[in-house]
Amino acid sequence: MPEWSVSRSAELYGIHSWGNGYVDINDAGHVTIRPESSSDRTIDLHELVRSVEQRGIDLPVLFRFDGIIRDRVRRINEAFGAAITEAGYRGRYRLAYPVKVNQQRHVVDCVYEAGREYGIGLEVGSKPEMLAVLATHNNVAGGLLLCNGYKDARYIELALLARKLGIRSVIIVEQIYEIQTILSVAEKLGIDAEIGVRFKPSRKGSGRWEASGGEAAKFGLCSYQVLEAIDILRNRDRLDWLKLLHFHIGSQITSIGSLKRVLKESARMYAEIAKLCPSLCFFDVGGGLGVDYDGSRTNFESSMNYTLEEYARDVVWETLEVCDEQGIKHPDIISESGRATVAHHAVLVTEVMEVAPVIEPRPSLEKPPTDNETLEDLHTLYEELTIKNCHETYNDAVSLREDILQAFNQGDLNLAERAYADRVLRQLFAKINAVSKELKYVPEDLERLDLNFRDTYFCNFSIFQSLPDSWAIDHLFPILPIHRLETKPTRRAIIADLTCDSDGTIDRFIDLKSVRRFLMLHETNGGAPYHLGIFLVGAYQEILGDLHNLFGDTNAVHVDFDERGKPAVRSLVEGDTVREVLGFVQFEPQELLDRLHTSIERALGEGTLTREEAVMLERQFREGLEGYTYLLAE
Ligand code: PLP
Repeated sequence: MPEWSVSRSAELYGIHSWGNGYVDINDAGHVTIRPESSSDRTIDLHELVRSVEQRGIDLPVLFRFDGIIRDRVRRINEAFGAAITEAGYRGRYRLAYPVKVNQQRHVVDCVYEAGREYGIGLEVGSKPEMLAVLATHNNVAGGLLLCNGYKDARYIELALLARKLGIRSVIIVEQIYEIQTILSVAEKLGIDAEIGVRFKPSRKGSGRWEASGGEAAKFGLCSYQVLEAIDILRNRDRLDWLKLLHFHIGSQITSIGSLKRVLKESARMYAEIAKLCPSLCFFDVGGGLGVDYDGSRTNFESSMNYTLEEYARDVVWETLEVCDEQGIKHPDIISESGRATVAHHAVLVTEVMEVAPVIEPRPSLEKPPTDNETLEDLHTLYEELTIKNCHETYNDAVSLREDILQAFNQGDLNLAERAYADRVLRQLFAKINAVSKELKYVPEDLERLDLNFRDTYFCNFSIFQSLPDSWAIDHLFPILPIHRLETKPTRRAIIADLTCDSDGTIDRFIDLKSVRRFLMLHETNGGAPYHLGIFLVGAYQEILGDLHNLFGDTNAVHVDFDERGKPAVRSLVEGDTVREVLGFVQFEPQELLDRLHTSIERALGEGTLTREEAVMLERQFREGLEGYTYLLAE
């Protein structure tokens, strides 16, 4: 039996649990991407990285696989289609892609094109989003434009005028006061509106975003406000403008049980409104369809305990049952599934720049430099440590560490003594940690000690820019090396980014049973590139990312198959240059250069700078301004 294999790597990193058929490992030990589940065509991610690097595109690079977007759109539509056929449901399904989840032009284009055959719609939540899609995405016949978010009169005017371009805009009332503005703007323009109301179910969803649902939710109307809205419309003789009931109970719903409860309540609400208002024809179940980031199929925050097919079936059957009970026509069902549409398509690839290895305990240590008693005790602890006394030794070491600090502060230990003590303490804790592994039962404090003994792999990226949810809400993403997977990873590691921020680390990783506190990685082979892939980052991450330390947008490469079926870079969206990020914070490059020249002239005059140094400084400065904000490989 070989000591390691690619299938053991696949198991270790849980690829087949979270990869959804899109990710695998080939015999060379490289990660492969299979963008279309209906085809066997794969892309070797490691080869792809090599080829983009050869073209001068620097890491970190965000790889986008258009085929995965197409596949997701197809799978979501097919899941609902199958559920509708199975149930004998008489309405149709419409996916409305919420643009906020990933507004990158190419991504929206790709989702929209893929959804054309299914009559896809779009959902916008602000004026900028509306302006973007109004002009560019208006050519799907009967395509819906759902208008959510806070609305002023301009927003409503735009939504109504869009109807003149053949776009079917539906303005969704999320706050009761909006209904008056919609009515007065529509009447002023003389354009008939189509209106939706967002209902606030009293049941909550589940998962990290469950506060988006329930009575205290920020958006939505409760039952008496829904009635008030109906009364306002009826009194203005516009009841037939009401077309849609919407609810949204938060992104990443983790538990199908909580979804079902909310569905029941909302479908009942739909039926009650439909009885008062026969024009009602859309039931919009919002976003929330989850992504199983850790592959555990549980109701853990980074997972979901249901499949896409189960979700579709529950939505369809619950709606059907309530409507049939109440004798109501089956509405068209809309879902605003954003995360489930785009999360899978993007992978961030970064390289390891440096490793800070954990300290390995030595068999024995040198004696103290002086006859200080505390130092002698410390040395003895180290030499006499055994499995039996390891917990007691740990407690003694913690108390000695305090004594040493006090003695140093009082002037009773000099620097050489303090340095010796610190060195021995580090070794001692490392040795206790190693020895404690043999204990049958490991006490909690020793378990915690273990967390200090993980290598730190410094990687060329910014968590704040590329994985903001990892920093902000401890969201977990699958991470693994994209090559060398035929060999065994032997190091227990955490990941640190380039920012000067201790929060810029990842020390929680996916696991099927809990959260793993380290990631198994390979030893870096003295200077040979070692690349890590961070998967499922296509939803929300880019736009929420920030410029901490002025690390800008990464290079993004769109990959698809060409006419010959070979992987090809379809387009490159270059990451921010230093010049651009400085501009964001009002450092104008020309002014910087002018000021630099003044300083150079002065230094030349004072003789502190040579002509050659002046030339070099200016060249570096100019090149720096035009360069990538991340570290460049030598
Ligand atoms: N619709 C609305 C109103 C939302 O607020 C959101 C995001 O939270 C979505 C749709 C997208 O949700 P998801 O990405 O979970 O599908």
